[in-house]
Amino acid sequence: MEPIHIIGAGLAGSEAAWQIARAGVPVVLHEMRPVVETFAHKTGDFAEMVCSNSFRSDDDENNAVGQLHWEMRAAGGLIMAMADRHKLPAGGALAVDRNAFSADVTAALRAEPLISVEAGEIAELPREGRWIIATGPLTSAALGAAIRVETGAESLAFFDAIAPIVYAESIDMSTAWRQSRYDKGETEEERTAYINCPMTKAEYEAFIDALLAADKTEFHEGETAGYFDGCLPIEVMAERGRETLRFGPMKPVGLTNPHRPDEKPYAVVQLRRDNALGTLYNIVGFQTKMKYGAQTEVLRMIPGLQDAGFARLGGIHRNTFLNSPTLLDDRMRLRSRPNLRFAGQVTGVEGYVESAAMGLLAGRMAAAEAKGGDLAPPSGNTAMGALIHHITGGAEAKTFQPMNVNFGLFPPIDAKGGRRGRKARYPAYTTRAKDDFRAWLAGQ
Ligand SMILES: Cc1cc2nc3c(=O)[nH]c(=O)nc-3n(C[C@H](O)[C@H](O)[C@H](O)COP(=O)(O)OP(=O)(O)OC[C@H]3O[C@@H](n4cnc5c(N)ncnc54)[C@H](O)[C@@H]3O)c2cc1C
Repeated sequence: MEPIHIIGAGLAGSEAAWQIARAGVPVVLHEMRPVVETFAHKTGDFAEMVCSNSFRSDDDENNAVGQLHWEMRAAGGLIMAMADRHKLPAGGALAVDRNAFSADVTAALRAEPLISVEAGEIAELPREGRWIIATGPLTSAALGAAIRVETGAESLAFFDAIAPIVYAESIDMSTAWRQSRYDKGETEEERTAYINCPMTKAEYEAFIDALLAADKTEFHEGETAGYFDGCLPIEVMAERGRETLRFGPMKPVGLTNPHRPDEKPYAVVQLRRDNALGTLYNIVGFQTKMKYGAQTEVLRMIPGLQDAGFARLGGIHRNTFLNSPTLLDDRMRLRSRPNLRFAGQVTGVEGYVESAAMGLLAGRMAAAEAKGGDLAPPSGNTAMGALIHHITGGAEAKTFQPMNVNFGLFPPIDAKGGRRGRKARYPAYTTRAKDDFRAWLAGQ
């Protein structure tokens, strides 16, 4: 049987290689480190965790990433097995001894007879054979350029800044309201596409003070501090002048607050729908490098967001990722070159666990195909299915940004209830997810 080639032995590529070998299909794993280094990786080992050592919550009843852990364990995932073996005490989180973890992932893959490893950078998109590209947020410059030629310059983001995403149901609609600026749009849905949060002068001034005082993340060594002018972090805008935001993303024009129609807001924060389900909203133009703790505090000063739950907080780092909703099919293949599959962070998921999960799926799909079959993704009710449905279809392509797994990606079980109601529903989501995931595994 022809081998499946994988580019990148990170979290995603390592898991993909393992799954393919388990299915009895040979694999060639291409990894450029340590021959070519990245600014963030420190070793030549596979599945290196470049920053924190946490796989986040391990609660598979009440937490979406915990549910993803469960699914990966159920599918015999190597990354979870090694994380469990090298678990460190960390309360409800799954923290890992990163060096021992990577060393054991490397050893397991090198010991697998169906896997051969080739050191070195792949700089071109391969024309022949079946390939999985799992080169991550720090995809080498040459390969990044080749992907850009194939997909179009606009499609491969070399990132920069991310805006926070809020759970729609945590927004206080007795303060906020739905309206597009100047009521623009042909349909009622378009005319009410945005959620608006109004600020008085005093609230705006207090917000700017807090923003300027907040703790910020500094760039990693080797990162350039240049911003694209079109997406400056809000604190950088505020540093340029206290009124800058009021003439930028917080401009109050073309909007009327139905709760107080006679009062003109001094500033308005807008949120835009972020997924087809309408469960997630991103704060428009609010890319930020405030540290997470400070960020939550400052953003909750926005009227209407005082109880906001965040599906993802804002942040800044270099990140190469595809506009997957337009470029990939639901088998994670590049529509224009179906012999190429993508997996991991480069597909627009965010995080170690999510990246490894996409490697697991891509590996299983590629192996099924190599054996003459076809494997559909698990249902959107599962954590893995919710993620792949989001990146390959559910997300808004125009504003597509890397995404962590979260319950906002799951089809709602019951639309009623506030924040408390939402939390009470988590076990129902995870029970449904487990049933569907078991069925998906049993069907293979
Ligand atoms: C600075 C920084 C900090 C981060 N911090 C966190 C964090 O704290 N927590 C978290 O969950 N996530 C974090 N992330 C995201 C993290 O990178 C991903 O979660 C995860 O590593 C992605 O897995 P992956 O397999 O897609 O990519 P990676 O793990 O990066 O693996 C990609 C592999 O491909 C190799 N490669 C690249 N180009 C080529 C090529 N042309 N030829 C051959 N090999 C190639 C690389 O050497 C690498 O080994 C961070 C990312 C960055 C950049």
